[in-house]
Amino acid sequence: MSYVISPESRPALPVNGSSQTFPVRRIHCVGRNYADHVREMGNDERDPPFFFSKPADAILLDGSDFPYPPLSEDVQHEIELVVAIGTAGRSIAKEDALNHVYGCGVGIDMTRRDLQAKAKEMRRPWDGGKAFDHAAPCSAITPARDIGHPDKGRIWLSVNDEIRQDGDLDQQIWGVAESIWCLSQSVALEPGDLIMTGTPAGVGPVKPGDTMTGGIEGLGELRIQVVDGLF
Ligand code: MN
Repeated sequence: MSYVISPESRPALPVNGSSQTFPVRRIHCVGRNYADHVREMGNDERDPPFFFSKPADAILLDGSDFPYPPLSEDVQHEIELVVAIGTAGRSIAKEDALNHVYGCGVGIDMTRRDLQAKAKEMRRPWDGGKAFDHAAPCSAITPARDIGHPDKGRIWLSVNDEIRQDGDLDQQIWGVAESIWCLSQSVALEPGDLIMTGTPAGVGPVKPGDTMTGGIEGLGELRIQVVDGLF
């Protein structure tokens, strides 16, 4: 097979304890999955889960610079547990869901909050707020065979060493198995898919020069520098 333009290679994440990498296919994100964050955004925590997407090439590796994106004056961090799918499935049962997980990592759902707010107001899609370049910083993936399936433990993010977000995975409204179950009713999940599972309270803006450091207890940390520059 030859192409009229060169196809890009797939974005990939390092895997802890391995020289091999995890190729990223799709990035699904769960909206409003921690009660305190749902309340800070003025929404109802009893709503069922819903999903939005980021492009796979929005992945930004740990230690990278995050170029401040255009068209926004309110770019915000959302620290999240990232679940990496290793086994394909559709209409997956809750009881079977964790068998489809390869491993997990730490990510930041970077958000142009002003564009997202405008989209909500105008009942338009969220893509402008969520699906921009470099909008998905993500750590290395730790295989489930090494760490299991974390469902409790501190999840936190600091900006310039000041703690902004400080929650616990056990505050998730919809756990990982339920998110996989729900999402797989709608679309087929395939190896390489990532699910960003929502953020605790404390989301807020960053500016060029800031350093974001985030982590999940027992899983790892992620450090990203916000810079001025071409996006
Ligand atoms: Mn999010």
